[in-house]
Amino acid sequence: MVIQVRSQTAEVYLDNNATTVVLDSVAEVVQTVMQNQFANPSSSHIAGVRAKHIVETSRDYARQVLGAGKGQIIFTSGATEGIQTAIVSALINAKQRLLEDDQQQYYLLYGATEHKAVPNTLIHWNEVLGINASIEAIPVDQDGLLDMDFIAQYASKSLIICTMAVNNETGVFQDLAQIEQVIRQHNQQVAWMVDCVQALGKRSLDIANTSIDYAPFSGHKLYAPKGVGLLYVRENRFCTSFIAGGGQENGIRSGTENTSAIAGFGKIFALLLDEKDDTFKSQATLEGYRQRLVDTLRETFPNIVFNHNFAYSVPTTINFSVKGLSSKEVMDLFDAAAIRVSAGSACSSKTTRSFVLDAMQLPDWQSSSAIRLSFGPADSEADIEQYCQAILNIKPALQQACLVLSDAREVEGSPLQTGIIQLKVGDTCSWVYIDPQQKSCVIIDAVNGVAERISRWVRCQSLTVKGIIDTHQRDDSASWMLRQELMEFIPATYRDSQSMGWPNQVDGYLDHHGHHLPYLAVGQYQLARLEGVGMARLDQSLLLMDNGSAQAQVILALVGNLFTPNSLISDQTMAVDSVTFHQSVILIDKLLEEHTIIGCGHDHHHQFVTSLACLKTEIPLFADLIAGDLPQTDDLEQYAQYFNLPSAEVGHAMPGMVDVGEQWQPYTLASNDIRDFLEQHPHACVVDMRECYECDVSDIQSLLALKKPPINIPLSKLAEFVCQNEVDKDAPLLLICRTGNRSLLGCKVLMRLGFHQVYNIGGGIALYHSKMY
Ligand code: PLP
Repeated sequence: MVIQVRSQTAEVYLDNNATTVVLDSVAEVVQTVMQNQFANPSSSHIAGVRAKHIVETSRDYARQVLGAGKGQIIFTSGATEGIQTAIVSALINAKQRLLEDDQQQYYLLYGATEHKAVPNTLIHWNEVLGINASIEAIPVDQDGLLDMDFIAQYASKSLIICTMAVNNETGVFQDLAQIEQVIRQHNQQVAWMVDCVQALGKRSLDIANTSIDYAPFSGHKLYAPKGVGLLYVRENRFCTSFIAGGGQENGIRSGTENTSAIAGFGKIFALLLDEKDDTFKSQATLEGYRQRLVDTLRETFPNIVFNHNFAYSVPTTINFSVKGLSSKEVMDLFDAAAIRVSAGSACSSKTTRSFVLDAMQLPDWQSSSAIRLSFGPADSEADIEQYCQAILNIKPALQQACLVLSDAREVEGSPLQTGIIQLKVGDTCSWVYIDPQQKSCVIIDAVNGVAERISRWVRCQSLTVKGIIDTHQRDDSASWMLRQELMEFIPATYRDSQSMGWPNQVDGYLDHHGHHLPYLAVGQYQLARLEGVGMARLDQSLLLMDNGSAQAQVILALVGNLFTPNSLISDQTMAVDSVTFHQSVILIDKLLEEHTIIGCGHDHHHQFVTSLACLKTEIPLFADLIAGDLPQTDDLEQYAQYFNLPSAEVGHAMPGMVDVGEQWQPYTLASNDIRDFLEQHPHACVVDMRECYECDVSDIQSLLALKKPPINIPLSKLAEFVCQNEVDKDAPLLLICRTGNRSLLGCKVLMRLGFHQVYNIGGGIALYHSKMY
């Protein structure tokens, strides 16, 4: 589906497993019913009789398509409601059995890859109804197919067995005949629910010829409106009134029928029944479409892996991972290119993983990089052509940003990845400085989660690696591994290194505040070493310096875990040597200006960087420390007393920790007010916080009708932006990103560092021109 969004570029919609557009022919029926046949189907006048006829005609069509025979078809609000009705019915029915035999352990089974609506409903009603059965996930194999032995083992003692026809993340379909055979061989009576939501229109169903007891369906997954679904209930199977009231839907689902949506759903069934209608494409055609999309994806992402076996999957779902790119990165890229796909997994702020792929025991990285692309069974040849073209269009941006290796060197005159880059994985920070002219770099505190990306940048730009250095010891350091991997890019003189990667051979020495410091030259800057400066004697701190001007200037101080942005000591305190720590703090205070930017190895509260000025105002203990009040001892007990901590907390807590996040609230603008704002603030600087590859595939300047292009500062370059100190801190800054989250974070970071007029666009680009009423 290609959607024309008001005043924006066309969107390529490839998230049909989440929901579908309402087909024109369906929308027409819905509107007609809403406006002309709107009577209550329970009314006895002629208008009511007509409305009732619409509902019954839809039911009849559904019955024919599903092969429902004499089973019941109950219209619901969607599949989640159907799942409730099915599970509550099965559990209430089984309760009698429980009363007769309260010694027996009973089970509620569900497939491990089931939609969350199923296990969560089982958990909820098992508790509410006091069933107290044990809820067990049926494991799946690497293809996502259910373990038949497990079902055989538990079926006889199960009260309900929930399986699904087609998985929503992978499109994997189950062999229902085989499942039925195993279930019924062991238990003729157990309730069997099959979630058929993703099967409608994609797999043929002949339900009444099976012993499936309950089968929920949902209208919005196949071009009908949201808010309508149905539940098939096998003939003579117990079904309780889940919503009691006026007695509609045979007394099982009360409430005035959603006649227009039911009519729309009915239209879908009518199309499926009409042999002459070609709205829904044949299996062979859809498989051909899948192949074209797969070929296009392979061409765009050379490192792509498909996460399911196409032999067991409906053709409309393609789940893939790109080595080295997280789901979020690929999602952001696709979204910026106006291609809507899904992360194929539950998103949380810290980790994005797919429980479905985890259940299939796919490698870790595949699960955390999973993307689901789902087209619709009504898509046309022309639609597929447009999808392929849109996907291919993002290839240059990928190469430009070194997100894929392949033939990236062909990209001419591009800035690629350069300058000071801060890479964050959870709470940890890694740092890279890449000089664009001399094509050399230093890599500091590389951790596992970012090593692959850094390696790609080096290879993609053929960089000379002057050093791969750690400021302190850490378990997740990837420096050794990177050094082996990038050996060919490290000149022989810099290969021999001391502990933590500082090369034996340096480029020279510089003097700074009376200290004679060894340095590595990286383009216009020098990276100078402060040996033994940190939390322990073996630690080191690094100063990125500009020695070109009359007085050497520290651009960025990298102090490892000596500080974290809003606490005095990070949680890595096991290796603390308090004397070294204290002396290091005093020395840093002497060597840096108040506002010199300090980069750390950890950043627990997304402050990104800090400075002596921030530390002094935010952390009262810091001032005491500078004044020399710290006990000169290695005794952790005494150390704990100093920070007023129970000794058990030393090593876990972060002494001096102050939460400074909440106090920074930027001015928030609605996206529709951007134009007025820019008229009132003609000198405002618009800052695009998205990654460069997102900017490359979307023209935000024309979208927002900006007079000049915005400056691009992704979060990884925020530190560089503040280090450069080129923008007036009193000038208005208008930050924007995809949904308003990154820009909000950027606003808080900048306000904390002294920028006074920082504005955020609430909801980001996503809500631009989306006002409805
Ligand atoms: N089951 C599956 C497999 C689904 O994909 C979905 C929707 O995402 C549901 C159940 C829930 O359906 P509904 O949104 O109609 O409640």
